[in-house]
Amino acid sequence: MRRCSGQRRMAGLIAACCLGVSAQAQAVEVDNMRLWSAPDHVRLVFDMSGPVNANVFTLDNPDRVVIDLDSTDLDFDIGKLDLDDSAISKVRTGVRESGGLRVVLDVSRAVAPKSFTLPPNDQYSDRLVVDLDYPGASAVKDPIDPIEAMIRDQEIAAQRAQTEAVAEGNPRKAEAVASAVEAQPHPRRDIIVAVDPGHGGEDPGASGPDGTHEKDVVLQIARKVKQRFDQTPGFKAFLTRDGDYYIGLRQRTLIARQQKADFFVSVHADAVRSAQPYGSSVYALSQGGATSETARWLAASENQSDLIGGVDGNLSLDDKDEVLRGVLLDLTMTATMNDSLATGGQVLDQLGRINKLHKSSVEQAGFVVLKSPDIPSLLVETGFISNPREEAQLKSPAHQAELAQAIYEGIVAHFRQHPPPSSLLAWQRDQGRGSASNEYRVQGGDTLSQVASSHGISMKVLKQANGLDSDILRVGQVLTIP
Ligand SMILES: [Zn+2]
Repeated sequence: MRRCSGQRRMAGLIAACCLGVSAQAQAVEVDNMRLWSAPDHVRLVFDMSGPVNANVFTLDNPDRVVIDLDSTDLDFDIGKLDLDDSAISKVRTGVRESGGLRVVLDVSRAVAPKSFTLPPNDQYSDRLVVDLDYPGASAVKDPIDPIEAMIRDQEIAAQRAQTEAVAEGNPRKAEAVASAVEAQPHPRRDIIVAVDPGHGGEDPGASGPDGTHEKDVVLQIARKVKQRFDQTPGFKAFLTRDGDYYIGLRQRTLIARQQKADFFVSVHADAVRSAQPYGSSVYALSQGGATSETARWLAASENQSDLIGGVDGNLSLDDKDEVLRGVLLDLTMTATMNDSLATGGQVLDQLGRINKLHKSSVEQAGFVVLKSPDIPSLLVETGFISNPREEAQLKSPAHQAELAQAIYEGIVAHFRQHPPPSSLLAWQRDQGRGSASNEYRVQGGDTLSQVASSHGISMKVLKQANGLDSDILRVGQVLTIP
């Protein structure tokens, strides 16, 4: 009997012990936290040892965000989080009475939080993602000037009216629109170029044998491309991503549309399993990609008002039949693709002067970022990060500057041949050659050959026109462009 009861007690102990183990297995740990700061939001990612239930809410006076995690322990030093450039001024943690973890984010501005969980994948464990959006903030650091945006809107409206007249088979109406635009004082607007560094944040893109991430080198190259445009009268560039954070592919084209971009160029670096392949390639949208995208735009009514409706709504095609809408979109898409291919050829030509080309002509593919129906777009694979030699080059500031210069020159060459009607370049062209107003002020980092090629002239001509006997320029020097 005694023996028997002893055995029963043992059995009871084992059961309690097992219960204890299973209760502990339910608790999860925060192993790591990552923070990605963007101009219009900050993303906080919790890497968890298992799935977690979270409750996220805001409190005011002072503004803060509370993240309650059920049955969770913290195994991470929150002092490691870099809060710079984010709305989060401080992170505090505490143990909840019910046994979970409470994380409190003190914030310096109004935020709209949203959160979701992600299952494990090859790279990461279970994750909790908390996004704090900044209401009213722009997704880009230097948004388009409102006056430039207005001029651009008027130009877009006029071009759409012309396209519409062509789609209707009414050339006289198209001419009337064109001459009405010409009668206006010339606004001389800047040509806006969207420079899109691929990947970012949790998406590192391709990685090289030495551990270089695509997202980092393409951001460095893209910043150099933007700088070259910003130094050139008649151009202005912005970055869709200017930091280490993630942006969705559709979001990138949306930002370009919001910023009234004339051109979109996405900057990437290739990777393959083999270490051998190397060289640059340039992609434009494929016909198949264009056709499926046209169908998508026609199907989505909210897009129609955005694309065809015009900004002030007076070009709305809601009253037009579906056939006409389709013709209009096809015309727009075809013109956009032709522009993309022509510019791609120019960029490839420039890249071929400084780097080996992986493919000698512009390739076409259905990449999502190339699918804006009305913004000519290119994707440049600057090189193979999987090739050890090219990985080292992609990291080199000098090589990055050469790649940036090639991308810049290809796009500028296209716009010098085909300037948008209300642009400064169109005005300069109309003034004819030899105009005294054609001057260029030298910026830091300029070289004589860059200035010459970006204006489509030879170094010799530029030197003669300015009486220069050396190739050395000084910052602030004003050059006459013949
Ligand atoms: Zn990429």
